[in-house]
Amino acid sequence: MTVFDFINNLCCPDDRGDLHPKGSELECERCGRIFEVGFEGICANLLPSKKFERKADSFIEKRSVEIYSRLFDEPFVKKQNPTPWGLEVPSWYVPKLNKHKYVIDKVLDNRIFERAIDISTGSGRFSWDLANRADVFVFSDISVDSALYLSERILEERVKNAIVVRCDYMSPPFKNDTFSFVLCNDTAIYGYEHEMGILRTIQRILFPTKGIAIVDLCNKYHRGFWHKPYTSAYSKKEMEIMLKMIGYYIQMEFPLYYELDKDLDERTLFSRISHIPEINMPKIHLTY
Ligand SMILES: [Zn+2]
Repeated sequence: MTVFDFINNLCCPDDRGDLHPKGSELECERCGRIFEVGFEGICANLLPSKKFERKADSFIEKRSVEIYSRLFDEPFVKKQNPTPWGLEVPSWYVPKLNKHKYVIDKVLDNRIFERAIDISTGSGRFSWDLANRADVFVFSDISVDSALYLSERILEERVKNAIVVRCDYMSPPFKNDTFSFVLCNDTAIYGYEHEMGILRTIQRILFPTKGIAIVDLCNKYHRGFWHKPYTSAYSKKEMEIMLKMIGYYIQMEFPLYYELDKDLDERTLFSRISHIPEINMPKIHLTY
């Protein structure tokens, strides 16, 4: 498939106008802006025309705004050996990564989805293996390296149901209620305003009733295992308040503390989660 097969779920990141094909590119029906499509049609560059403005009072926020600004400004051109965030990790990190992937797999159980997305996917290290759970899987990131790397990998490995969208998750180029599954890991860690923005985005693009999101936030009493000490962190109570303010029903919470390693049956990847109530709200699974 290509982004043209997914066009009815895409919109202009500036004004949410519908997109239609214009030669080998996409055009907004409202503002006429043209968006580039590459890699045999599987990758679209759908950045908004303006950066998202947010205040940056703390060191963490200033740093994240600087990184965001640099990634936003990078021209979308091919390069040799793109190196997205998370592609190269030190060996000590691998058990942590596996732990997190294990938890995601456990939460998802044997569910399959119509349309799924990994927001801020980086190298796709959390979600590459999840693509086969969805009819359509969207890898999204603002990073040029991420878009290049994943597009090349999708073509090389002939993954037929995945596309790549370079975008800004604060102005997402997806229509409301598009995805039945949203994954967002290691991203909601850059300041309260930022976290609330990304949580609102996820709620907007998630199916309103049967949609499921897995989001991780940083627990301020357990920084160091998964999230770095310089990330923005919250108590469990604060996380729950944030999620409920947005309008999520918290279906499950999973701590990722290293010391709880042995409490999870990590070798039984497909062990079932029992009793998932049917609630008529977008559901969220929180890891921290
Ligand atoms: Zn437009």
